[in-house]
Amino acid sequence: MKLSKSFWQTYKEVPSDAEVTSHKLLMRAGFIQKEAGGIYSYLPMAVRVLEKIKNIIRQELTAIDSQELLMNMVTPAEVWKDSGRWDTMGPEMLRLKDRKEADFCLSPTNEETITNIFKKTVTSYKNLPVSLFQINTKFRDEIRPRFGLMRGREFVMKDAYTFHMDKACMDVEYERFYKAYANIFTRMGLKHIIVEADAGAMGSADSQTHEFQVIADNGEDIVVEAQSIGYAANIEKADTVRGELKFTDACAVEKIETINQSTCEEVCKSLDVPVYQSLKTLVLTAMYGQKEANYIVMLLGDDELNEIKLTNFLKADSVTVASESVLSKFNLPKGYMSPLGVSGLSVLFDSAIDMEKSYIVGANEENYHVKGFVPSREVEKSKQADFRLAKETDFAPDGKTPVVFRKGIEVGHIFQLGNKYTKSMKATVLDQNGKKQTPLMGCYGIGVSRTMAAAIEQCHDENGIIWPAAIAPFDAYFAVIGKKEETKKLSTEIYNSLKSQGIDVLFDDRGMGPGPMFKDSDLLGLPLRIVLGERDYNESGELEIKVRSTGESFKVKKEELSAKVKEVLLSLGSSL
Ligand code: ATP
Ligand code: MG
Repeated sequence: MKLSKSFWQTYKEVPSDAEVTSHKLLMRAGFIQKEAGGIYSYLPMAVRVLEKIKNIIRQELTAIDSQELLMNMVTPAEVWKDSGRWDTMGPEMLRLKDRKEADFCLSPTNEETITNIFKKTVTSYKNLPVSLFQINTKFRDEIRPRFGLMRGREFVMKDAYTFHMDKACMDVEYERFYKAYANIFTRMGLKHIIVEADAGAMGSADSQTHEFQVIADNGEDIVVEAQSIGYAANIEKADTVRGELKFTDACAVEKIETINQSTCEEVCKSLDVPVYQSLKTLVLTAMYGQKEANYIVMLLGDDELNEIKLTNFLKADSVTVASESVLSKFNLPKGYMSPLGVSGLSVLFDSAIDMEKSYIVGANEENYHVKGFVPSREVEKSKQADFRLAKETDFAPDGKTPVVFRKGIEVGHIFQLGNKYTKSMKATVLDQNGKKQTPLMGCYGIGVSRTMAAAIEQCHDENGIIWPAAIAPFDAYFAVIGKKEETKKLSTEIYNSLKSQGIDVLFDDRGMGPGPMFKDSDLLGLPLRIVLGERDYNESGELEIKVRSTGESFKVKKEELSAKVKEVLLSLGSSL
C-alpha cells in the first residue's frame, strides 16, 4: 500500500487516559480511536492485525475439526432465562428492549445461544462430539474498563464450544484445544504461560480449566510459577505452601493488654515475635442467592484471605466482609476478635495453621489479646482447608521448589463446563440404548482484541511497537530518500516487484525527510524497514534492510532484495 493514498497517520500526543504502553502506542500509531469508555473503533491498520490474529486462530481450530459459525450479537432474554443467567448475570450484561418492549441483551458470551442451536439440531449420540467456534463482538459493561483494548466493554472474542456424551470424550477435545491454543500463541510469536485456573464453585473437582497468559509488566493477573517442576497457576487458584515455620508449643491461655494494638503486626511487634505466631480472625458473610450465612475464618497473622478459595469451599455465590451489625450480634470487637467464647458461628482454619500449637489471638475484649490459643483445644468443631492467598515467598505444592510471581495478561481461557447449560436448558440426545442423556460441554475463549494489546505490551521499545512478524499489519516499511525523478521511478519499480513476490509492503512515498519517516516507521513497528537512499544506491547499487526487533541491518542489491526480505521474514516467524 502506498502511504500517500492511505488513511493512516501518527500522533505526537498521548491521550491523558492512556496509562499503559499498548493503549498509548495503539493511539499514537493510528490503530484505534476512542468512541466512549471501553469502546473503540479499529482503524484500517488495526483491522490488518486483527485479521492476521483471526486467521491463525481459524487455521488452528479448523485443524482440530472445529467449524466456524456466527451467532447473533443481540440475544433474546428467553435463552438467558432458560439457563437462569438473566437473573444472575448482573450489570455486566447490557440489556435493551425492542419496539415491542421485548427484552434483549448484547452478548457478553454465548453458551446459551450455542446450547439452543445445539438443542434444535442434534438429537443422537452419533452426531457427537460437536465443535463450533465464532469470532464476534462481545459486550460486557465492565465496572472498570481500562487500559485501552486490554479491558474494553466492546471487544472481539473468539469463543468455541464443544458437546460430548461423556467426560472421556470431553477430555480428548479439551486436550486438542489446549494444544491448538499453544500453537496459536506460539505462532503469533508471544511468550506465554499456560496456568491452572480456578474452576469456580460450579466446576466439579475433576473439571479442568487453564488460562493462557502473555507475560507482560502491565498484566492485570498474577501468575505463580515454579518452572523447574512445571507448576504454573494463577494466583486465584495457586495452592502453594509456606516454608518451615517455628510455632509455639501448646501452653496455657494468658490474657495480655494490647492497648490500641488492633492488628496482628502491631501485637506481634510489641511482643517481639514473628507475625505468623498470631492468628487473624476474619468474619465473612457468604451469599447463597438471597440467603446468607456467617463464618469465622482464621489465617496465620501474616497471610491474606483468597476469597475465591473460600467461596468455592462454601459453594457460595460470593463472600463479603461481614457487616458491623453481624459483628455486634456476636459481640465481636473489631481488632480484638477471636472464636473464644463465640457460639453460633462455624469456624474455618487455614491449612497452614498447626492445630496443636499456640497462637496469639484477640480476647474478644477491646484492648486485649490472649496468648496460648490452641485451635484444637479452644474450638470444639471446626473445618480446615486452604484459604490463603499465595505469597511470593511460598513454595510450590511439592513443599520445596520456590515459586516466582509474574504478571500476565489473560489472552485465552479453556474450561470444562460439564452439564451446567445443557442441564438447565434441557438439551438432551439419545444414547446407544435410545435413552435420553444430557451432554457435557467445554468452552474455549480467546480475547482477539486483547491479544493485539498484549502483543504490544510484550513487544515494544522506547520508539514504538515491535510487531511479531506473524501478526504485523504489513511485512515491511519501504522508505525512499531522494527527490530525483529516477529515484521515484526506481522505488515504484522495487515496490511493485516486492508486491509481486507476495511481500506486503507499506510504501512511504509521502516525500518526507528521513527523520520523520524513520520515526513513523519505528512507531508503527513493522518487522523490516527497507531504505532506498538515493546517494547510497547510486554509489553502491545497494538498499538497506533493517530488522525492527534486533536493530540488525543488511545491505542488499536490488536483484536480491525480495529473496533476502523473505528469508529474514521467515526467520522472524512470518508465514508470508
Ligand atoms: P477477565 O478475568 O480478564 O475478566 P474473563 O474470565 O471474564 O476475563 P472469559 O469470560 O473467559 O474472560 O472470556 C474469554 C476471553 O475474552 C478472556 O480470556 C480474555 O482474553 C477476553 N476478555 C474477557 N473480558 C475482556 C474485556 N473486557 N476486554 C477484552 N478482552 C476480554
Ligand atoms: Mg471478566
